[in-house]
Amino acid sequence: FRAMMIVDRDGRPHAEFRDLTTADLPDHDVLVEIAFSTLNYKDGLAITGKGRIARRLPMVAGIDLAGTVVESRSPDWAPGDKVLVNGWGLSETEWGGYARFQKLKPQWLTRLPDAFTFEEAMGIGTAGYTAALCVDALEDWGAISPGGREVLVTGAAGGVGSTAISLLARKGYAVTAATGRPEAHAYLSELGATAFVDRAALAEKGGALQKERWGGAVDSVGSTTLANVLAQTAYGGAVAACGLAGGMDLPATVAPHILRGVSLLGIDSVMAPAARRERAWKTLAAHLDKARLGRIARVEPMSALPALAEEIVAGKVRGRVIIDVSR
Ligand code: NAP
Repeated sequence: FRAMMIVDRDGRPHAEFRDLTTADLPDHDVLVEIAFSTLNYKDGLAITGKGRIARRLPMVAGIDLAGTVVESRSPDWAPGDKVLVNGWGLSETEWGGYARFQKLKPQWLTRLPDAFTFEEAMGIGTAGYTAALCVDALEDWGAISPGGREVLVTGAAGGVGSTAISLLARKGYAVTAATGRPEAHAYLSELGATAFVDRAALAEKGGALQKERWGGAVDSVGSTTLANVLAQTAYGGAVAACGLAGGMDLPATVAPHILRGVSLLGIDSVMAPAARRERAWKTLAAHLDKARLGRIARVEPMSALPALAEEIVAGKVRGRVIIDVSR
């Protein structure tokens, strides 16, 4: 079977298709036949070589996968079980989802919720699952309540942002979307956003404490945007920070934290413990609008990955791209 691999070429990572057999796979306990993977920004970086994602070579790329257990040496999984994997170092230190088969550690597998097909789960992918982790974290913290203050979502038209809007709106929150794409307003309104903020306004450095507006926020942008969001969060509120689309820095003060009791909740999807993952997938199963997801997702063959990787890194991919690893 074919796999999209990152290999060493003259000391640099290089992406190419290679033929493998199951004997070539790592000696992990569960063999999975993969139905679909997906395309994330991080996958784009790995394939184009524009980011050093693979930390050992050769590496099978792809940070997400969904498929069926074929063989298992673990009592937790049996042939026929439908599973998915998000993160856990796939495509970084462990072979990932851009292949027809993969061997995986039992603790990396999450049971596919009955609500989703393999294709739908990969339409959600790491981006959607991360959005669910953010929403769960804000609710667990007690920062937000339906009918309470508005919840802000930055990077709104992106994968994390659009799923977060959909989940929050269906849970009954008033959602404001911060986006740099006015042409996306109609789409974001359809997902459930009821107000908009121009992302440029949040990118300018503002005061340490600004007018209190948000009960909570999901931030995938970081940098000055996150500093402003914290400064605009109301007393006792919280911001779930998961991304760095606008930068890795955080030019902020402690004022919102020590004068308004505002909390900054860090969200990581890669090494999140199993219980939190299961909960996030339950949140998605209960609250995601699948029909709408279907309209923004499309299936592409694995053979299209080199071109798709260039497109996603250039910011030209709209919606979600599901990868059919059999083609
Ligand atoms: P994406 O689909 O590329 O969306 C990112 C969005 O951020 C864009 O659609 C854009 O929103 C906004 N944006 C882009 N560049 C910006 C800039 N310079 N300033 C302000 N806003 C900007 O990516 P994604 O999959 O949603 O991921 C979002 C972020 O979360 C990424 O940084 C990713 O690495 C991170 N992430 C982290 C985890 C984790 O485990 N913590 C998991 C998944 C993703 P508009 O078009 O609406 O303006």
